Amino acid sequence: MAKIYQLDGSTLYLCEPCLNDLGPIPGKWEETPLETCSVCGDVDLQSREEIDRYHYESDQRMWEDHIGCESAIDERYMDWPNS
Ligand SMILES: [Zn+2]
Repeated sequence: MAKIYQLDGSTLYLCEPCLNDLGPIPGKWEETPLETCSVCGDVDLQSREEIDRYHYESDQRMWEDHIGCESAIDERYMDWPNS
């Protein structure tokens, strides 16, 4: 498991060890956590997990907001006949 880098302006992806083995390759290398190394097929599992966790947590938050909204409406309707 390693960080994956993309050569700016190309579709070449290299993990950190491959970049070190083949390099130094001139150019601007940007981290791209969702890509696969073009040489050895390595992926950045740790960053992927962090991104998955982020999506999971934002899904949870949206769901909780949704439930909060619905119960507020229910309470209003339940009070309505008495007021
Ligand atoms: Zn590699």
